[in-house]
Amino acid sequence: MRKDWDTYFMDIAHMVSTRSRCPRRHVGSVLVQGKKLLGTAYNGAPMGVPDCSEAGCMISEEVELVVSGGIETMVKKQRCIRTIHAEQNLLLFTDRADREGSTVYVTDEPCWTCANMLANSGIIEVVYHRAYPKDTRKVHEMMTQKGIVFRQLQAYEPPQQTVVID
Ligand SMILES: [Zn+2]
Ligand SMILES: [Zn+2]
Repeated sequence: MRKDWDTYFMDIAHMVSTRSRCPRRHVGSVLVQGKKLLGTAYNGAPMGVPDCSEAGCMISEEVELVVSGGIETMVKKQRCIRTIHAEQNLLLFTDRADREGSTVYVTDEPCWTCANMLANSGIIEVVYHRAYPKDTRKVHEMMTQKGIVFRQLQAYEPPQQTVVID
């Protein structure tokens, strides 16, 4: 069966994510204008700098407010801060003119910082696959305020060869 465009571009985003060398998270993103692919990026250390596979992840511990069943708890979370996020790399490697009116496909729901930057980048739509509950509420709210279409491909299944096991 022929793939629809959402599946087609999300498949490419997942393919791109396999380039990531951070064992904690493989994220890929692509810039699409109309039906044209204008850029690809994944999360990684700056070029020429040792990445997570060489130098290990750079772990930062943060305290996060988690709300579950109406109960708020503070939970300690670890994350790798060595990498530039895929969405930020995508913005670093594409032109403003190419982003105007374009769509970003990204394997994972953007974090708050990436969402904030995407909102100011000229793009008009973000399509993601895996949810990122931590920032989802404020990100959705901001995207609505900006009038950016923000949608999840819920029934989507990534191609088998892009599932990375470290
Ligand atoms: Zn890492
Ligand atoms: Zn991010």
